[in-house]
Amino acid sequence: MRFGINTLDDIEVQDKTVLCRIDINQPVDKASGTLKDTTRIEACIPTLKELSGKGAKLVLLAHQGSDIEYKNFWTTEPHAKVLSGLLGKEVRFIDDVCGPAAREAIKALRGGEILLLDNVRFVSEEQTLFETRLLLSHEDQARTLLVRKLAPLADLYVCDAFAASHRDQPSLCGFEQLLPSAMGRLFEEEFCVVSGLMEKPDRPCVFVLGGAKIGDAFLMMNAVLGGGAADQVLSGGLVGEVLLWAAGGDVGGGTRAFIEKEGYENLVDTAKELLAKYGERILMPRDFAVVESTGRVEYDAGSIPAEAAVLDIGTGTAGRYQDIIRGAKTVFVNGPMGVFEEAPTERGTKMVWDALGDTPAYTVVGGGDSITAAKKYGKTKDINYICTGGGALIRFLTGEELPVVKALRHGSKIKQKL
Ligand code: ADP
Ligand code: MG
Repeated sequence: MRFGINTLDDIEVQDKTVLCRIDINQPVDKASGTLKDTTRIEACIPTLKELSGKGAKLVLLAHQGSDIEYKNFWTTEPHAKVLSGLLGKEVRFIDDVCGPAAREAIKALRGGEILLLDNVRFVSEEQTLFETRLLLSHEDQARTLLVRKLAPLADLYVCDAFAASHRDQPSLCGFEQLLPSAMGRLFEEEFCVVSGLMEKPDRPCVFVLGGAKIGDAFLMMNAVLGGGAADQVLSGGLVGEVLLWAAGGDVGGGTRAFIEKEGYENLVDTAKELLAKYGERILMPRDFAVVESTGRVEYDAGSIPAEAAVLDIGTGTAGRYQDIIRGAKTVFVNGPMGVFEEAPTERGTKMVWDALGDTPAYTVVGGGDSITAAKKYGKTKDINYICTGGGALIRFLTGEELPVVKALRHGSKIKQKL
């Protein structure tokens, strides 16, 4: 038991039917029906090896894409192939979620065998539209189709989907109302790492916040600066630009137009409040890069051309951030410093990620694009911890109890019948 939740050490799985919710949501190439990345699939392997090795009849539930991420809404069939390869053991796939075919396949499982069901979001109650419009309680979720059909076939529920733990959906929060529950090894590990980061980080502890999810970054700043976890925040990407704008700096007309078009303008007021509260603990970029016909050109914050859109922090700012990162004891990073996908505007991100690679500090990186950058610059081995969850991590760091954590605490109180 850890954090009030059972671990795999607290349950008996041999010859038991175990419903295991994993997060293997990956970018999909629909034309070829293949996955563009497999990081999250690799991350859940230890849990699956352990459960199957201990003789569980293992039923895997997972989502792929959603109504808000429709470009990745797809079957989980390709995931079964990847899982089989990584486990060195057949993972069967069935193109059904909780209908008669899926239920027959579950009943036919023998100890140690693994079955992956199709995308749970093919069932409407798993969609984000249902989540956000209907706000089903966990008791309501236990009465949805998926839970009604599958829970009677199972002995145990295990959740290893830390990356989805901020979601409030039946496959994540419903089964714990009926079945004895536990968290998987990846969930346990990620929970531990992020809890440590919030509670007693080695100091100085620096948060590097960039990217495009400005509202999330501001929420996180308030939590970690207000709660004392962070000594300093280094800002970059659109987050840094909105902060500088709020501080009365000039970020260029193109940048302002982009921020307005994206509807982020109201966040300027939030940025002002943050700056008033935390002042010099929030660092902002002092120079920026703009792409002109000749390529990358850098300007100091006061002299950006009137219509320019800035797309990266400048070399001066990146160097200053490198020094701070190299002198810190703990560094948490979410969000790149600029449009690192394009060669002329990748320098800021690359320099900061280089410092993450060689600083003696304990380093944690979260967020899809931030992880992509770590891979691009060959830093995945040098970063201490890469967290699969972006949204979940942010919600966790803001101090809220995650819906899945709440549900697992509930399900951990249900005694297993042996
Ligand atoms: P993560 O996925 O790591 O959580 P985000 O999704 O918040 O990060 O942000 C990453 C995206 O933000 C990237 O696609 C990047 O190109 C974009 N971005 C970063 N800086 C800027 C900028 N100054 N202007 C426009 N887009 C930016
Ligand atoms: Mg992203």
